[in-house]
Amino acid sequence: MSEEKTKAELLKEKLFIKKEHTSAVIGEKGNREADSFAEGYMSYLDASKTERESVETALEMAKAGGFTEFDKSVRYPAGSKVYVNNRGKSLILAVIGHKDIKEGVSIAAAHVDSPRLDLKPNPLYEDSDIAYFKTHYYGGIKKYQWTAIPLALHGVIIKADGEEVKVNIGEDAADPKFVITDLLPHLAGNQMRSTMAEGIKGEALNIVIGSRPFDNTEGAEAVKLNILNILYEKYGITEADFLSAELEAVPAFSACDIGFDRSLIGSYGHDDRVCAYPALMAALDCEEPDYTCVTVLTDKEETGSEGNTGLDSKYLEYFICDLASIYGAEGRDVLSASKCLSADVNAAFDPNFPEVFERRNTSFINQGVCITKYTGARGKGGTSDASAEFMGEIRRLLDKEGICWQTGELGKIDEGGGGTVAKYIAHLNVDVVDLGVPVLSMHAPFEVVSKTDVYMAYKAFLAFFSR
Ligand code: MN
Ligand code: MN
Repeated sequence: MSEEKTKAELLKEKLFIKKEHTSAVIGEKGNREADSFAEGYMSYLDASKTERESVETALEMAKAGGFTEFDKSVRYPAGSKVYVNNRGKSLILAVIGHKDIKEGVSIAAAHVDSPRLDLKPNPLYEDSDIAYFKTHYYGGIKKYQWTAIPLALHGVIIKADGEEVKVNIGEDAADPKFVITDLLPHLAGNQMRSTMAEGIKGEALNIVIGSRPFDNTEGAEAVKLNILNILYEKYGITEADFLSAELEAVPAFSACDIGFDRSLIGSYGHDDRVCAYPALMAALDCEEPDYTCVTVLTDKEETGSEGNTGLDSKYLEYFICDLASIYGAEGRDVLSASKCLSADVNAAFDPNFPEVFERRNTSFINQGVCITKYTGARGKGGTSDASAEFMGEIRRLLDKEGICWQTGELGKIDEGGGGTVAKYIAHLNVDVVDLGVPVLSMHAPFEVVSKTDVYMAYKAFLAFFSR
């Protein structure tokens, strides 16, 4: 039998688009590198369950890597590393490049907020001898997924005198955890017949926080009193202090390997720390780039990017304008010449739910970082549709560096939709396209990604910063 390829086989190789498993392309060494990169990512995940903690962890890493606070009165030489901390909830890192700033900058923008349950401003109450926190969900969640799982509480409380108290409880093995109860199946006939959207209502997302009365003595609101007493002793807070607090309930479990082959990572908050961490590492690892490299870790993407720590705010524009003026350039000229990877996740094809995906235009686990030309809904509503020219540029860049990549839409047409920060960056007249990691169970309390895809995301951001 001949080993030679037929004419058709050769032509197919030349003409057909290729879909390859990243592990097969990068080989044993590449897979080992991906595994080791994943370890750093998993530590970052566990230390950074909220936007504030993500910024804090990233800032610590950046400072250790030589980044200093940006001062718009300093003319920084190439290779300088600066940061802007926007209210502890979003962060800009920049590495000054060799080229004239007028030629634009390279921006990678990821978000560090994830779907969660925020405590309401007046959260604490007692019902039937159980103390609860009332919550208001943040971002797009399937409410039923948040019942009957261990929860931890993270955030800050600003006391009446202005003192800030940090809260992080439920993560240590010795910590108590919290939970939202669900109905037993025996009595859930009506609930099970309702829709999944209706089965657990927003106002039922109440977190159990205690059940013992103060002084072990019965009395009106004695369980609530006991909780307030514990909180007063631990944090020095009173009930009114919840009004000036941001407390977020998040899943209490840690990131872990998934699968016998340990090829996947299960965790809360991959969306979008799975792009934030690779973008952060690329910022730390890019030395003396040609173009100035700007990494943005932003807040509020999950609620539409509004608010002064989200990318619908002007904080990124202000930074670029300040940077421009240092070198005698106009902010608008710098922005108009800039390029951006909007670093966000896409939905990976899930064989359990093939009906919502269009196989020829969806991303798959382990096929590399995913470029998403447009997001949005219906007739491409609410999106920035990247140009053929910019797609071509990114494609050439990734191919040149041997990075495994794929392309994908977010599900079938009219099946739903979604958006990213891309359109807010496009609003600044920057060339932008979405690039990120495919995720299974996106927006669930426990999401899944592949280690090779995470590593390819890092390589992609590093290649972009080295363009
Ligand atoms: Mn996202
Ligand atoms: Mn999201």
